[in-house]
This record gives sequence, C-alpha cells and structure tokens, in this order.
Amino acid sequence: MTQKSILDRFPRAQLMTGPTPLDRLDRLSSELGIDLWLKRDDLTGLGFGGNKTRQLEFYLGDAQEQGADTILITGAVQSNYVRSAAAAAAKLGMQSVLQLEERVPDMGGEYYSSGNVLLAKILGAEHMSYPEGEDEAGADAALHARAAELKSQGRKPYVIHLGLNHPPLGALGYVAAGQELCRQMPDADAVIVPSGSGATHGGLLTGMAVEENAASVFGVCVRRDREKQTTRMNTVLQKLADLLDIDAAPLQSKVNVLDEALPPGYGKLSGMTRAALEKMARTEGIFLDPVYSAKTFAGLLHLVNTREIQPGQKVVMIHTGGLPALFGYQSALLDDPT
Ligand SMILES: *Cc1c(COP(=O)(O)O)cnc(C)c1O
Repeated sequence: MTQKSILDRFPRAQLMTGPTPLDRLDRLSSELGIDLWLKRDDLTGLGFGGNKTRQLEFYLGDAQEQGADTILITGAVQSNYVRSAAAAAAKLGMQSVLQLEERVPDMGGEYYSSGNVLLAKILGAEHMSYPEGEDEAGADAALHARAAELKSQGRKPYVIHLGLNHPPLGALGYVAAGQELCRQMPDADAVIVPSGSGATHGGLLTGMAVEENAASVFGVCVRRDREKQTTRMNTVLQKLADLLDIDAAPLQSKVNVLDEALPPGYGKLSGMTRAALEKMARTEGIFLDPVYSAKTFAGLLHLVNTREIQPGQKVVMIHTGGLPALFGYQSALLDDPT
C-alpha cells in the first residue's frame, strides 16, 4: 500500500472541498517572536464549518454504504459535532437524531437556546436529552434504544459512537488533514491542536507520521487532565493503528499533551482562555471559540512563555472551529474579567 492510499479503502462521503487555507498570522508572529500559521479548519464550509466536517466524511460514508436513512449522535448541549452531523445529514438527504447531554454545569439561558442549539433546530433534527455528561456508555445505550424504535418503524438508523470501544472512523478525517498539512507546509517545527475525544489530535499525528514529517505535535487538553488524556490518546492511537493496519507504538511515542489551559474544566472559561480569545480577535481579527480553540491558543502562548516553543520556530495552530458556541457563552464573555 502506498502512503497516499492509506485511506482509500474506507467509504467516504464528500462534505467539503479542497484543502482549508493555511494563513500566516503576521502581527502575532512578530509579537510572539515565532513564525505562526493558522490552519483554517474553521472554514471547512458545511453548516458553519469546524473539525467535525472532516470526521463526518468517514462516518457518513460508512452510513451511506450501510443504506442508512437516519443518523443518531450524542454530545454536549453546545456540541459542534451534533450540529455538524445534522448539517451533513441534511446535505446527504438523511434525517438526524441529536442527543444533548448535561455536561457543563451552571450555564445561563442562552447556553440552552443560542449557538449550536439554535442551528440544530433550524436544521430540523429530532432532539433528545440525557441527564449525564460523563457517561459515554449510558449515552450510547440511550441512542441505541431510540435506534431500535426507529428500526421497528421501518427506518434505517446509524449510530455515530463516540465511545472508545468502537473503531475511530472520525480520526481518519484527521489522518487526511495531517497529510494535507504536510503538503501545504512540509517544514513546520511544531503543530498545536486541541485534544478532546482525541480523534483530531490522534488522526493529525498519524497522518503526519505517515508522511514521515518531523514536527512536534502538541495536544491541548480541553476535557481531561494530562495524565487521563495521555492514557486516552494511547487507546485512540491503538484503535486507529488497528484500523489502518499500521504499528501503534511509534505513534504513541509522539503523544505530548499539556493541560495548563484546562482549568476550571470542560467548557468553562478561565481568565487565561478568555485573554487568549480576545488576543486573537484584537490582534488578527479572527474569532476563536471558548471551549476548544481559545484553550488551544492559550496553550500555545504557554509553550512560547516556557520556551518549549522556541523563538523563530515555525508553528501551526489548527483552528478547529466551534464558533457558534460563542453565542452560548454570552454572559461569561461579557462579565468583567476577574
Ligand atoms: C470537537 C471539537 C474539538 C475536539 O476534537 P476531538 O476530535 O474530539 O478531540 C476541537 N475543537 C472543536 C471546535 C470541536 O468542536
């Protein structure tokens, strides 16, 4: 198998076109003393863009191959994944069922009505809710129960699993993205990416390794601390390597996650994250989202401060999108910083 064909045997639905732009951030580059580039995966196009478009190409390709007419997916209330899945389903002429989990405590009313929630309603998806945010198995079981009902009505449901005991098809989208980035910029010193479920981080790292690229890949923890995320990444990479029929150990040795930007926890805005979000907007005119990309930029600023990223290095940050969530975080962003 040649390197370029590593993804060929997986069914893929085309949801986006072309490589996403790789933009140089001139003002931030001079301010930080590095050569900083932004890979614009916020501009993947479909239904407000973001990283999930790439991941869904492989899930929906599989769903289409199985003759599905309805997809079911679970996520946080302001999940970009469920919004993107509903948009992808619409584009491919399928129905969607979205299950929203209570994962972020103490949020204001707009968290439940604006941003991704609003967009998913416009997309016409069926909605369910799940009272727990840290129960992947339970959330999957609830989706399966709904899928069984749909099946008994003659529909053909397809469940997109986010749990670790299923093949990480979504990560294949980031294997492709890693290869795409290597073609755009073969000589980066470091790449920095959010690390949540790990599909983006794991896929990107794998795609770049397949291309024999030597850049360091930093994953910024957005949901679990460094230790837990490292364990998770090792599992994700094992599953992904199995799927691709390659060796996992060289990939696992490249896992490098940092969690300085994680507190106070998933989906919660700290002063550090808010400052990063505002800095990107006020220096480059580019918006980041409060849950993922602003934490990633906060992590990048930390690496520059500690000199783990050195002056003059060529650095790529992956902008994974998530912008609709900004409108679910109105109160947190308008509060006086403390
Ligand atoms: C889901 C998401 C992430 C995290 O990606 P994983 O593949 O789950 O690690 C990062 N950024 C945005 C905007 C997301 O929606």
